Amino acid sequence: MRGTVLYGPRDVRFEERDEPKILKPTDAIIRLSVTCVCGSDLWPYRGIQKIEQPAPMGHEYCGMVEEVGSAVKTVKKGQFVVGSFCISDNTCPNCRAGYQSGCQNLDFMSGAQAPYARVPFADGTLVATREVPSPDLLPSLLAVSDVLGTGWFAADAANVKPGSTVVVVGDGAVGLLGVLSAKQMGAERIIAMSRHESRQKLAREFGATDIVSERGDEGIARVKDITKGVGADSVLECVGTLDSMMQAIRSTRPGGSVGYVGVPHGANLDLQQVFFTLVRLHGGPAPVRRYLPNLIKLVLDGKINPGKVFDLALPLAQVAEGYRAMDERRAIKTLLQPSGRN
Ligand SMILES: [Zn+2]
Repeated sequence: MRGTVLYGPRDVRFEERDEPKILKPTDAIIRLSVTCVCGSDLWPYRGIQKIEQPAPMGHEYCGMVEEVGSAVKTVKKGQFVVGSFCISDNTCPNCRAGYQSGCQNLDFMSGAQAPYARVPFADGTLVATREVPSPDLLPSLLAVSDVLGTGWFAADAANVKPGSTVVVVGDGAVGLLGVLSAKQMGAERIIAMSRHESRQKLAREFGATDIVSERGDEGIARVKDITKGVGADSVLECVGTLDSMMQAIRSTRPGGSVGYVGVPHGANLDLQQVFFTLVRLHGGPAPVRRYLPNLIKLVLDGKINPGKVFDLALPLAQVAEGYRAMDERRAIKTLLQPSGRN
């Protein structure tokens, strides 16, 4: 088969790779229905995160089970499954506490920008649907695998409750789906921080009540204006830079919470500055597996349409253009369509 491999900065190749095989009895092989490029793939793509050797790319996935190892019990060949970007056993103490992204057997999915992929710990990582979903639902089910699950965790970690006032920092796919998540959790006021018209529009569609296009001190002043000088109850940080993290912390009221899910790159917080804000911080890689059953149900019931974040769809063979479009911010998120054994 041909799959996606990153060789170095801005060097994405679609090239011949071995088809994945069952290596352990707990593995499953899936045939990808759709896959995509993640905002976090842009860190190594831009050379900000160094890679040691050519890396098979892709960690967001849904598709049909082709084969399972002898120990797999909860999914079987012919089922449609959605999985988390974190590989988890879902049985260890951390998983049982709802933190599958802190699993004692944690691993990260890779190689899913391809027609086929191997999923370790299939029972602990995958959730099967009762029926094979209709094709129009595939983008939304794919979004559940990472960007929606991550946006949902950001809102959950920021303690969004019915009636809350929420700020979302970051207008990438995760931030936009953080808006959707906050809305689902009953937030009354949702302030999306975005400078891009098309993203502001989608944020409003997902439930944003206010848009703040300023950043830094000006952005914080605008949030304070909107919240009568207090700050927000809950702030979702969906970028991962020091500026965005400080923007989030300083937009939160004393006693409020920041849910941070942007993968930090060079974000060294000044602890003294944080100390006096009286803000709660909770974040990290999202335990998407915890939310999968509920989020899949919301999609299948037609309650949410997170697949709207995909504003570009390409055949998988054009994956390099998919990266370029996101890098240049021409696209929010690129959907990739495998077509047979290409
Ligand atoms: Zn575990």
